[in-house]
Amino acid sequence: MQLRTKFILLVGLVVVASYGITFYRTSSFQRQLVIAQAGRQARMLHKQIILTRKWVADHNGIFLLKQPGVDANPFLVEPEVWDVKGRGYVKRNPAMVTRELSELADREGFCRYRVTSLKPTNPANAPDDFERDCLRQFDRGSGELIRIVKTDQGRFLRYMAPLVVEPSCLECHADQGYSVGDIRGGLSITIPMDWAFASIEGNNRTLLFIGVATCLGVGAVLFLLFETLVARRLGMLARAMEQYPGPAGGLAELPGGADEVGQLAGKFRDLCTRLEASQQALDQAREQVFQNEKLAALGRLTAGIAHEINNPLGGMRNCVKSMREDPDDRDMARRYLGLLDKGLVRIGQTVRQLLNFGRREPLHPRRVMVDEVIRECFELLSLNLKDVELVLDLRLDRPYLVDVEALKQVVVNIGLNAVQAMWRGGRLTVTSRAAEASFVLTFADTGCGISPEHLAKIFDPFFTTKDVGQGTGLGLSITYSLVQRMQGVISVESEEGRGATFRIELPAAPTAEGRDGGEAIG
Ligand code: ADP
Repeated sequence: MQLRTKFILLVGLVVVASYGITFYRTSSFQRQLVIAQAGRQARMLHKQIILTRKWVADHNGIFLLKQPGVDANPFLVEPEVWDVKGRGYVKRNPAMVTRELSELADREGFCRYRVTSLKPTNPANAPDDFERDCLRQFDRGSGELIRIVKTDQGRFLRYMAPLVVEPSCLECHADQGYSVGDIRGGLSITIPMDWAFASIEGNNRTLLFIGVATCLGVGAVLFLLFETLVARRLGMLARAMEQYPGPAGGLAELPGGADEVGQLAGKFRDLCTRLEASQQALDQAREQVFQNEKLAALGRLTAGIAHEINNPLGGMRNCVKSMREDPDDRDMARRYLGLLDKGLVRIGQTVRQLLNFGRREPLHPRRVMVDEVIRECFELLSLNLKDVELVLDLRLDRPYLVDVEALKQVVVNIGLNAVQAMWRGGRLTVTSRAAEASFVLTFADTGCGISPEHLAKIFDPFFTTKDVGQGTGLGLSITYSLVQRMQGVISVESEEGRGATFRIELPAAPTAEGRDGGEAIG
């Protein structure tokens, strides 16, 4: 996952989590506050109702002028009275005052309240579920109870507190068996709460909107800051690292600044400087080694040439010496002239080989059956094979465009090396196969193999592990150069003691350069 994505996810998570917690706390705090406020209101109302009831009870009820809608209560002992002028008055006891005021408050949408008990005088005052539950708890000694109740009409705060029998209550309730101090019921108050919860929900919606907008805003600002201060500059640093060293060897533009990214860029610049210094030191050391190798190779070559020339020269000098001592011996002169000629031919061959190595004759490719050229080469080598079993698995069924002389030189060089590596005998398997746009030759021997440290050098000019006079170290170097000029590829796989396999892949249709051999390079 990209750093940018991780950063956005983590920051988003932290912002959403912290805002979520704040939102939850604020919302529940608001709810608690509103409920506590409504509870306080219910308590005040309760107090007010109790005082009103006490006042009515202390006056043994109150009388209202009788008029339509103001009826007498048949449950009262003395429900109505008449004055001297014949006007009627109906009696209201505390319970009735409570009920009528409650009905008025209910009509106004303010609240509802009533007195109820487990043994109501008026069946209309029978308790509902909440009230019954509270009354039972009052019997067990509980005080006031507050609960939020959800009904079909909405949500309400229900408050209920016990009503204690006072002397003035006995006028109506003494016959129910109550005495002063008894709990004879409870005053239940119901306050509508929908408006409060609706306002809490409205607040929550606003808070949520502000929260989402804040999260998006903070997220966008953080993203932009991260993008400008970190991601872009890290990208710049990564590009500079990727492009280093550029074509001119220099460093691409690096992010500046003294912050962590700037410091990292500075460290990278230092690293490049150190790298360049050690590269220079390495180049110098390599140049030194190369010079030493060149001198060593030159020494090997000189020794080889000296041996190749000295050998026949020694014999030739002996011949000349013998001929000088006995100039009249014509038979000897004839024999020795032959030997002198052979010696000169051998020296000539050595010199020609040296010239061939340096000179670059243009290639002259023509269509030939490659398998036949390979067979011809191994016929020439047959004398050297001795204890070597030769397996020719050649399967090229059409002619290819190659320089025959170059191909022969390549096959003979590799073949001879393989034979020389199997002085105790072995098997040389030569294969040829057609590939898509090329053909592949392999030479696998079971000889001594090549050690890893020699493997990297065998294509170097003058590298040889053979004794002086046995090898000049030019065979594989010439082979490598010829394969390259034929636009092919040569590779080798070998393990010491387990033989070696050379693989040569040449193009089926070499381009113009490979066909005419290009310029001869001196
Ligand atoms: P030369 O044969 O004159 O030494 P080459 O360039 O042909 O020069 O070979 C270089 C060296 O590569 C050899 O001296 C030999 O150590 C190693 N070499 C080449 N071919 C083989 C092979 N088939 N098995 C083991 N060693 C090999």
